[in-house]
Amino acid sequence: MKRTKVSGFVSLILVVALMFAVVFGVKTISTPEPAAPAGGTAIEGAVDGTYTAVRKGFGGDITVDITIANGMIADVQVTGPNETEGLGSVAVEKLPAAILAAQSLNVDTVSGASVSSGAILEAAADCLAQAGIDASKLTGVAAADVEKTEETIDVDVVVIGAGGAGMTAAIEATQAGKKVVILEKMPYVGGNTTKASGGMNAAGTKMQAAAAEAAEDPEVKAAIEDSTVENYIADTMAGGHDINDPELVRTMAEKSSDAIDWLESIGAPLPTLAPTGGTVHYYLHEPEDGSAVGEFLVQFYNQKLDEMGIEVMLETEVTEIITQDGKAVGVKAESPTANLTVNAKAVVLATGGFGANFDMLASFDPSLANAVTTNTPAATGDGIVMAQEIGADTVDMEYIQLHPTVFQENGLLVSERLRSNGAILVNKEGKRFTNDLATRDAVSQAELQQPDAFAYIVYDSKYAEEKLYEKYVSNGLTVQGDTLEALAAEMGLEGDAVANFTATVEAWNKVCAGEAEDEFGRNNGLVSLDQAPFTAIKIAPGIHHTMGGLKIDTAAEVISTDGAAIPGLFAAGEVCGGVHGGNRIGGNAVADIVVYGRIAAQSACAYVDAQ
Ligand code: ADP
Repeated sequence: MKRTKVSGFVSLILVVALMFAVVFGVKTISTPEPAAPAGGTAIEGAVDGTYTAVRKGFGGDITVDITIANGMIADVQVTGPNETEGLGSVAVEKLPAAILAAQSLNVDTVSGASVSSGAILEAAADCLAQAGIDASKLTGVAAADVEKTEETIDVDVVVIGAGGAGMTAAIEATQAGKKVVILEKMPYVGGNTTKASGGMNAAGTKMQAAAAEAAEDPEVKAAIEDSTVENYIADTMAGGHDINDPELVRTMAEKSSDAIDWLESIGAPLPTLAPTGGTVHYYLHEPEDGSAVGEFLVQFYNQKLDEMGIEVMLETEVTEIITQDGKAVGVKAESPTANLTVNAKAVVLATGGFGANFDMLASFDPSLANAVTTNTPAATGDGIVMAQEIGADTVDMEYIQLHPTVFQENGLLVSERLRSNGAILVNKEGKRFTNDLATRDAVSQAELQQPDAFAYIVYDSKYAEEKLYEKYVSNGLTVQGDTLEALAAEMGLEGDAVANFTATVEAWNKVCAGEAEDEFGRNNGLVSLDQAPFTAIKIAPGIHHTMGGLKIDTAAEVISTDGAAIPGLFAAGEVCGGVHGGNRIGGNAVADIVVYGRIAAQSACAYVDAQ
């Protein structure tokens, strides 16, 4: 991927350029390597040498080494190999140079990576303290007052947002021979898509055909054979409480198999099947290595954009859609260094939802004002607001999904995959309380009725080798025990709750062995919990997906309040409403972004060709 800054910036002096490169993350000016500002004054009391400190990041230890030479910060090295790709890894990459250039710890952190950023800054403060420097007294190098340049670029298709939908659309439009640019407001690509934890739903795929053929268990075989397009439509509509736009759902379902083939054709296969939460069917297609689909796709897309030479302008926030005679003809955007006008023959909005915009959330549901969110801080509904400003209509805005298994300390989502693999939910009394694989809204509501409104997700070690499972342990989410009693102690269960808990797991294992009916009617993910060590994660509901958004048709055209398509404006992904109705079933976010990302690009290209 060619990540660019806005041109015309070269006249700024090196130090200022470096500061902006590192603080604001404009990638292309990261060469030459950032250096300390020349000719600075020595920090009072500083003792030359190299100092090391270690702090816990999001994915494990982060080590910071700071070298003080001539009384100044001369080198900063950060090692944090386990930080989340595209989030914490960005902090690991950017903060050292930012600290060096600013000669202080008073630098912008990477939003969305607060744990990693905080750990780096804490360890850096420790290093400075070892060198006799009180970090809090460092005022640093004053940021230069840079006057922004005015820039204009011309493209066929401008894509707003480098999440899953935007990157899909950009790849598809580039494959069709169009000149494409992606504008992304964050210093990294991926958006909420990075956090998609399960797989991608699809029906009628060759993987399903092969798995049905190979299945030995007759029930599993029947469930896979029944994972048809028509059942996928029915399950999506039922999960969405039948308020979804049926045509949008039909299009997603009918094109889902083709989307799986397309992913495979560009090198991102999802060959592993699993049952979809809230259904008994096997629509979920997952990466072979058991990694989360979001990280898998974002990492792959990122490389693909690079390989295809698709330009991505990071830290470039779109503020307005430009119209002419009622048609969308481009956008206005701002980067740290420039005011940008992009003239485009077609505009694709892929800015995601508003699950991190608490004012907007509370305007539809006041009870959400202080809830935990799984969303990236970028999910602020910008695309919805900008499109409304040029007359776009919205649908289903009041439908905001809570995900039932969110680690509350940091909003990290615990995948539905665990429950598909047999995990159960128990309350603090050690008891199950619901069909753990009912729809997300139903499970969330059941959790909120439990004592102190939380639960534990409990699982065994059958899948411990999978990347996803390893991540929960390395991220410090889990407690473990070699026996159920030991796990209960780690979970903090007391008194009767311990006996309840062991009895709960025994009862569950009987259901899995076919010796008893499940009292809550769970009929999928029937995998016994009998392989030590046992693991639990304390979870509660968190804001996850905003089902509502811009009104689109099956060609991903944005529909105005007067019912007509807005010429030149297309949208895909979470910025749109209608596909998921009142509740999105797991696996449909990725189906939505891949199917509609491609459709938006195809429609945009056809629109460009017709001009
Ligand atoms: P989807 O799943 O629909 O692709 P994501 O949340 O994954 O949505 O991605 C949306 C992307 O759009 C994020 O990377 C986000 O930072 C970006 N974005 C949101 N608002 C703007 C904006 N005003 N300008 C540029 N990028 C934006």
